[in-house]
Amino acid sequence: MKPSRFDYERPASLAEVIRLIQRDDIVVKIIAGSQSLGPMLNLRLVQPDLLVDITGIPELKRVEVSDDAIVIGACVTHADIEDGRVPDVTGGALSHVARGIAYRAVRNRGTLGGSLVHADPSADWISSLAAIGAEVLIAGPSGQRRMQIDAFMTSVFEVDLGPGEMLEAVRIPRLSRSARWGYHKLCRKTGEFAHAIGVVLHDPERAVCRVVLGATESRPIVMRDARPLFRDGRRLDIDAARKLLTDAGHADALDNQIHLAALKRAVDRAEHP
Ligand SMILES: Cc1cc2nc3c(=O)[nH]c(=O)nc-3n(C[C@H](O)[C@H](O)[C@H](O)COP(=O)(O)OP(=O)(O)OC[C@H]3O[C@@H](n4cnc5c(N)ncnc54)[C@H](O)[C@@H]3O)c2cc1C
Repeated sequence: MKPSRFDYERPASLAEVIRLIQRDDIVVKIIAGSQSLGPMLNLRLVQPDLLVDITGIPELKRVEVSDDAIVIGACVTHADIEDGRVPDVTGGALSHVARGIAYRAVRNRGTLGGSLVHADPSADWISSLAAIGAEVLIAGPSGQRRMQIDAFMTSVFEVDLGPGEMLEAVRIPRLSRSARWGYHKLCRKTGEFAHAIGVVLHDPERAVCRVVLGATESRPIVMRDARPLFRDGRRLDIDAARKLLTDAGHADALDNQIHLAALKRAVDRAEHP
């Protein structure tokens, strides 16, 4: 199928994007890498009157490194991160996750911001960045606000963006040198969307021990203080991890087993990088 007719704008500034997406007399959609929106347009699942292409705005491709964090603009692509054009403050976690997303053609165009706003529960960034403790920076008519990434995704394909707001950047904390992380995605073929995701971050110097179970039926399950899941601080207590899933309403025993396998492999990777 072909998309329905739409107008197209490619503004050169963030202020202009905010002005355009505030319009409430027509349906306006932002387009970034178009890897998710393109198929939705072709299937006419969305029929905007106006597409606002944000890929020509330098602020959205910015990368700012400081002592304690990196801020990555929403239009930085998965391939930029995979190839190391974005300095890594996570001891290799970011490039590891980027490499596992789809295949190269998708990674060349798909953006960090597009992936987070699309909020597919099976996508890689939402779960991995929740474990790392990243924040999203949101631009809108009344300025900028920021929030923890695990609160940003409110439901399947839904995020906390109000009228006239867009995702501007992501702030990722710098991990300590001694931090140990593991990310494991289970899927039938390399590069597919995940069937289950397990992520663990131990960063004792920063008093962080976080676990995420992703690719569930809804938003990722985030345990911000995951110390109770570990025996001797390192060995995963499978029964405690299973309870995390059942407490979150996940009753399917087979599916839970698959998620636990993903988490177990992530923990193994954290211990034996
Ligand atoms: C074949 C295929 C396989 C894939 N496999 C995987 C995979 O294994 N893992 C994975 O994580 N992803 C996968 N993806 C998705 C891919 O990562 C996309 O790049 C991503 O989901 C969307 O990013 P985009 O830049 O293309 O956004 P677009 O498609 O342009 O936009 C997606 C949505 O986000 C909105 N949007 C985009 N940017 C912003 C912004 N800055 N502020 C507000 N709204 C915005 C758009 O309006 C739209 O609703 C796959 C995609 C394809 C086509």
